[in-house]
Amino acid sequence: MPSKEEIQSSIAQALEESKDDIIKVAKELYEHPELAFQEHHAHDFITGYFESLGEFKVTRHAYGLDTAFEVLYENGGRLVNFNAEMDALPDIGHGCGHNLIAACGCASFLALVKTLKKYRISGSVQLLGTPAEESMGGKCKLVENGAYRGVSASFMAHPLVIEKEGDLIQISSNTLLACSMIECEYTGAPAHASAFPWDGINAFDACIGSWVNISMLRQQIRPHQRIHGYFKDVPTVANVIPAKSTAVYQFRSRLRSEVEELKKKVENCCIAGATATGCSYKLKEVFSYSDMINVPSLVDACYETAQDVCGDKYLLQKGDKGQPDASGSSDIGNVSYEVPAIHIVYKIPTLEKCPQHSAGFAKSAGHLKTSMPPTFASAKVLAASAYKVLTDDKLLETVQKEHSKLI
Ligand SMILES: [Zn+2]
Ligand SMILES: [Zn+2]
Repeated sequence: MPSKEEIQSSIAQALEESKDDIIKVAKELYEHPELAFQEHHAHDFITGYFESLGEFKVTRHAYGLDTAFEVLYENGGRLVNFNAEMDALPDIGHGCGHNLIAACGCASFLALVKTLKKYRISGSVQLLGTPAEESMGGKCKLVENGAYRGVSASFMAHPLVIEKEGDLIQISSNTLLACSMIECEYTGAPAHASAFPWDGINAFDACIGSWVNISMLRQQIRPHQRIHGYFKDVPTVANVIPAKSTAVYQFRSRLRSEVEELKKKVENCCIAGATATGCSYKLKEVFSYSDMINVPSLVDACYETAQDVCGDKYLLQKGDKGQPDASGSSDIGNVSYEVPAIHIVYKIPTLEKCPQHSAGFAKSAGHLKTSMPPTFASAKVLAASAYKVLTDDKLLETVQKEHSKLI
């Protein structure tokens, strides 16, 4: 078996060899931002690239999703997975930097495969193109459709605005909150708002009722819980009683079991809006993201690897326990309930002071001269950590034991 140093230098060399191709992936996606489940250009560009290499089994439109894809290197042994998110945000493009996540997934995949080939080590590697992280939960559907079946561990890295000095890679996320989104569609009856208002049943009033109920509910929820929403199908004239309107709410908590409890309360607020106005209602769950399960032994293994491969250039830390209450959500949480998963977050330099999900962050994610070096460093950590999972029996046994206790 090759030494740890040989493996790590092989990964670094492989990344160097595929550097130009990977930068093209980041650039192409940045220049063609696409919304959830519309990532056709990204899908075609990346699958086309891997097909052109002629070495892999490439499946377009994988696992029942039009814009998901799978690239598979099958060489016996265990199977590890890398995720490539691709979706952008309305109006601001890659304000969450998913063009870099896709590039990082492709880079990690190629670097690990080249190393396995070089040393004739058995092990299989999957790259999944995972659509619609920002809304609608592509990975939730991929989990349901069996995309992660047989995977020993799943890996991804996410660029972030991190307001700390120095170049920083954080091996496990802070608390990623569990999050669900529901829609409540109200149906009433239209009427002339002045001549015959008593004939009307006001669907927009039902929305307002739900909003007021939820505003009161917020006083009785825990500090780490969040509820936020908006209305669809809102009236545009004053003199018609609106017969259709929809309220949309997202709500979050630390654990998915807590989100289930919160969901009942939010639904009751929505139903009360219908009862008060006499509307009928239809409740629908749009998505449900789980919290992130961080498996300690896998986080430790990844952290040690990071120290070896980039500890001299990057400031490393495990999850930042200092800010557990300020967090978003991701569908990688659903993956983490299915298989042990690592969600690295890393700082990219921002060109101006800006938050995540902003035009300023999009510009920074597209400024490849400064956004790609930490992306490659993260890919190095992911590839070398995945190699450990493929080859270290004892580590995997511990990881699996811990994971089964945590879910
Ligand atoms: Zn985002
Ligand atoms: Zn994101």
